[in-house]
Amino acid sequence: MTSVTAVDDCLFCKIVAGDIPAEVLHSTERTVAFRDLSPQAPTHVLVVPRDHHENAAALAAADPEASAELVRTAAAVAAAEGHDDYRLVFNTGSGAGQTVFHAHLHVLAGRSFGWPPG
Ligand code: 5GP
Repeated sequence: MTSVTAVDDCLFCKIVAGDIPAEVLHSTERTVAFRDLSPQAPTHVLVVPRDHHENAAALAAADPEASAELVRTAAAVAAAEGHDDYRLVFNTGSGAGQTVFHAHLHVLAGRSFGWPPG
C-alpha cells in the first residue's frame, strides 16, 4: 500500500483532520463519513479515505482495502439512516461532475432516483 500524506490545500483532507467542521456520522481506520454541505437527497453523505487520493481509481490502485472499506462504510451509513435502497456515486473528472479532487463516495437515499442519471 502506498502511504499518502494530507495535501495542504485539499478541502477533504482538512475535514478529515478536523480543521474544517463537518457533521461526521461514522469513521473507521481508513474512512470518514460526513454529511454533504449541499444535500441532493434527504440522506446525502460523503465517505472519504483518510489518505489523499485524487479519485476512486487512484484510491483502488493504491489501497484496495480502503476502497472496500469505503463501500462497507457507505452501507453502514445507509443502514444507520434507515435505508435499504440507496445510490452510490463516484464522480471522476470534472466532466463527470467531480469538484473536489480527494476521492469520495456519495451515499444518496430517501427519495427515488431516475435512470440514466442527469
Ligand atoms: P463532487 O462534485 O466532487 O462529486 O462532490 C463534492 C461534494 O462536496 C459536493 O456534493 C459538495 O456539495 C460537497 N462539498 C463541497 N464543499 C463542502 C464542505 O465544505 N463540506 C461538506 N460537508 N461538503 C462539501
